[in-house]
Amino acid sequence: MISRRVAGKRVVIVGGGGSGDAAAFALRKKGYDGDVVMLSADRDRPYDRPYLSKEFLRGEIELQKVFLHDEADYAKEKIELRLQERVVGGSMRDGTLSLQSGGQVKFDTLVLSTGGTPRRLPDAPDSYNVLTLRSLRDSQAVREALKRGSRLLLVGAGFIGAEVGASARQLGKEVLMVESAPVPLARALGTDVGELYASIHRSKGVDVRTGTTVKEWHSYGGRVVGVTLSDGTREEVDVVLIAIGIDPNLDVPRMLGLPIEGTGVRVDSGLRAAEGVYCGGDIALHPHPVLEQSIRVEHWEVAKHHGRGIATAIASGDAPVTRLPYFWSDQYDVSLEYRGHASGDDRAVWRGDKAGLRFSVFYIRGGRIRAVLSMNDKKVNEVGGRLIESRRSVDETLLADSSTDLSDLVPAG
Ligand SMILES: Cc1cc2nc3c(=O)[nH]c(=O)nc-3n(C[C@H](O)[C@H](O)[C@H](O)COP(=O)(O)OP(=O)(O)OC[C@H]3O[C@@H](n4cnc5c(N)ncnc54)[C@H](O)[C@@H]3O)c2cc1C
Repeated sequence: MISRRVAGKRVVIVGGGGSGDAAAFALRKKGYDGDVVMLSADRDRPYDRPYLSKEFLRGEIELQKVFLHDEADYAKEKIELRLQERVVGGSMRDGTLSLQSGGQVKFDTLVLSTGGTPRRLPDAPDSYNVLTLRSLRDSQAVREALKRGSRLLLVGAGFIGAEVGASARQLGKEVLMVESAPVPLARALGTDVGELYASIHRSKGVDVRTGTTVKEWHSYGGRVVGVTLSDGTREEVDVVLIAIGIDPNLDVPRMLGLPIEGTGVRVDSGLRAAEGVYCGGDIALHPHPVLEQSIRVEHWEVAKHHGRGIATAIASGDAPVTRLPYFWSDQYDVSLEYRGHASGDDRAVWRGDKAGLRFSVFYIRGGRIRAVLSMNDKKVNEVGGRLIESRRSVDETLLADSSTDLSDLVPAG
């Protein structure tokens, strides 16, 4: 269905990542025929970020496959993509943005999808072999560094650290993973799943040290050559990747006076932060209508879906964004999927074969399923999503019993 046409309006999108790119193309798909301008601080046109710690890092896919669209598609869809344009200020009253390069850009409607910046450790040396991973160029740098070096130190065992660790092992590198928490990923996924991840990495030869930090950095000739850890050991390293999470890029929303709450921009259920201003992706703190809680998540599919939701709102009027958050992570031959939003200390109901790494975990709070995590268990994850959407309380014994056909528990209609 082609939506109402809004002619002559100028939409400016700040951010050429998952959310911004999806918004631009979805606007055209929905028949929007005003100007669409995308300003991106990145040097490259939008690309598929999840590949950067997986297939692209391992050299399994070509550069061309990483880009979300061919260069010509932007011209074809009349999307004015302006790379290396960082927005550094703006005025809501005047409808203008200021660029670091010196110019100004006018907008009628504004979309902010500025993503995040990897955190660094304050005491880590500013050295060419101490890296972070967010952009395509970062991934190329890690790839090159791994070609030259054989021993990788990962600081942080979150998803990015764990995926790079798995990729590096697949490339035959030695991997030392240092994590300050006693169990990796426990806050998000719970202790049991976190322990399982640690054991998977150990079984693949990763030296996982939990409850451990870097105490001292040893440099020689401008590069880090070793570290002393809080457990007292000294380790030699060739490459260091700091993967301790991101800080959402809130400078632009802050300068525009948009509502900031905690680490996100508060938006309404249709991702609107103010009249004519929308925020999507990693920066959006969204009151999720199905989960009935405000969430800010850092997931690729969510960012893309936000972009499309924003385009719908601009082209045909505000509508709540209701799809459940979803993410995946591939490490070695273990494929994780997660739908919904829960905390690691929510009650966990397990179903399936944990030892055989084919199982799902339902996270339950207040009698309702808040999230479902599945390892190599795609079908259960999909049905689990429908159970979350039903908002019904479900008998935990039935959930845990592998002989229960879960689709029988999903209310009809
Ligand atoms: C290596 C890696 C692997 C990942 N793997 C997965 C995965 O397997 N599954 C999953 O669900 N999620 C994954 N993620 C997370 C996912 O990529 C992010 O949640 C998603 O990219 C967020 O999209 P976004 O549009 O909010 O931000 P981004 O994609 O980060 O885009 C932000 C854009 O804004 C630009 N920008 C920032 N500030 C300005 C400014 N002031 N002016 C102009 N432009 C600006 C940036 O240059 C960038 O182009 C991964 C992330 C990384 C880094």
